[in-house]
Amino acid sequence: MKNFKVDHFNKREDNLVLSEEINAILRAADDIIACGGRTMLAKILKGSKDKKVLQLGLEQNPCYGFFRALKIEEIVAKIDWMIIHDFLEIQYSGKLPMLVFTEKGWILEREQYANELLRQWDEWLAQGIIPESMEYLKDRNRGLILLFLEKIRQTGDERYIPLLEHWVGIEYKKVRQAICRVINHLQSPGDSSCKRIQTEPIGAGELAELLKVDTLTPEVLKCWECGKKFVWSEEEQKFFKLKGFVPPKRCPECRDKKWLGKMGVEV
Ligand SMILES: [Zn+2]
Repeated sequence: MKNFKVDHFNKREDNLVLSEEINAILRAADDIIACGGRTMLAKILKGSKDKKVLQLGLEQNPCYGFFRALKIEEIVAKIDWMIIHDFLEIQYSGKLPMLVFTEKGWILEREQYANELLRQWDEWLAQGIIPESMEYLKDRNRGLILLFLEKIRQTGDERYIPLLEHWVGIEYKKVRQAICRVINHLQSPGDSSCKRIQTEPIGAGELAELLKVDTLTPEVLKCWECGKKFVWSEEEQKFFKLKGFVPPKRCPECRDKKWLGKMGVEV
């Protein structure tokens, strides 16, 4: 039987970014989050040799050059798609528009970053390396670190213990406690007295849900000034998102009046 349900990904505009591309853009954005904008992100994804990119060491990002074959404008269009579909958002640092993760974007990024940290440890174990310092894990986002620890715990693999012990000394109390719990668990996996760490990795279904693209639909808002209801169109919502503006408080007429008033025009 034919399924008539509308598939978001069938629509031309929503097809612009694939799920592995969503992950790549999020990973590339992670190194400049809250301190870089769309242009910088596009340069990382392009694999640009731009002075600032190299100065900041962004060529080390695992997704550097992910869209090497695309033109900068095409990459920017993908980034804009990510903003319009709530994976990234624009926030202002002074007058500069900076990219930050939305909640949905961060859940996806945290998941793939924690996996990346775990793969790094697996490589070290395979090569018999214990890095000199574990400082690279300090002052990271707490949610990311707890998720990473949870992933280690779930492996039940005691070979991680030396790395954990190497790490524990440099950490703050909360993280230290979490590391100790994981060490205890790995030493005696059957021990049910181990408290579970709150952060759970996301399951496949949940991941699909997060990757699902919400299409914008016109919204009805109420004007703060005159109380009239007005339609906030899809096009205008896109514009506001790309500019990092909060939803409009006034209807178009009151907005016009306000601007004309500012310009000294009698209304
Ligand atoms: Zn109004």
